Amino acid sequence: MNRAERRRQAREDRERIARGLEAGRADGREVIALMRVLHDLIEEARDAGTVAPVMQFLHANMRSAERLAPNHLLACRRGCAFCCHTFVSARAPELLFVKGAIPGRDRAAAAAAVEEAWRVTGTLGPGARGGLARACPMLRDGACNVYAARPMTCRMAVSQSAEACGRAFAPGAGPMQIPVPDHYPTLRRGYSIALAGALRRAGFPAWSYEFNAGMRTALARPDAEKAWLAGEDVFADVQRDPGSDPFTLPSNLRLYDDAFA
Ligand code: SF4
Ligand code: SF4
Repeated sequence: MNRAERRRQAREDRERIARGLEAGRADGREVIALMRVLHDLIEEARDAGTVAPVMQFLHANMRSAERLAPNHLLACRRGCAFCCHTFVSARAPELLFVKGAIPGRDRAAAAAAVEEAWRVTGTLGPGARGGLARACPMLRDGACNVYAARPMTCRMAVSQSAEACGRAFAPGAGPMQIPVPDHYPTLRRGYSIALAGALRRAGFPAWSYEFNAGMRTALARPDAEKAWLAGEDVFADVQRDPGSDPFTLPSNLRLYDDAFA
């Protein structure tokens, strides 16, 4: 593909996903387009030394998709936080973006809260965390302190019943069904694959990290963002979310191959 063709493709990709992934559809063509747009933004982020433009674009795009979705069915609202008491994972730029959303004067307190949480959750995987009901260290007075920058897994964790969430995330609870509108799993999968593919193409790990462990590392290093963008694997020792690399599935790998053929 020559430069003019690449420019035309980039323009068409932007147009295709301008209103966000389409709820209930988010087909291969949309996910591929978003993957390429995010990849271009990540390449620009290397020069800029900040992941903020990538993540701002991604969050704006998810907001657009949410506006298009029939969300009157959701029980979710700011301050409802049962779902903030379980295993959360995030990819590297999400962790760095959350860090950036914490004002400098609050970073030391945030680092202390994360450290305390990590001492309890540090080695536990999703299964063991299920019934632990340990509060996320980003919670303040029952609400997320980094709401606008919260990881994709938080943003796309929705429910039609807060009561069901209260039961499912209670201490000692086993696996329980939470009623979720049909289109949300499709949206969550589409956004996750698109970001993972963009990272993979740019030479970064595609998988997610356990949130407390990842935030602990991000907050410990003042230069974490610049070092990560410069190619240092800042999160190499951080506990990964098992199964969070979508490209272990041949169908997702085909999407990636089609995006960058
Ligand atoms: S997913 Fe459940 S706990 Fe979380 S905001 Fe929605 S209703 Fe509340
Ligand atoms: S980052 Fe915010 S939304 Fe996500 S689990 Fe923590 S408090 Fe909840």
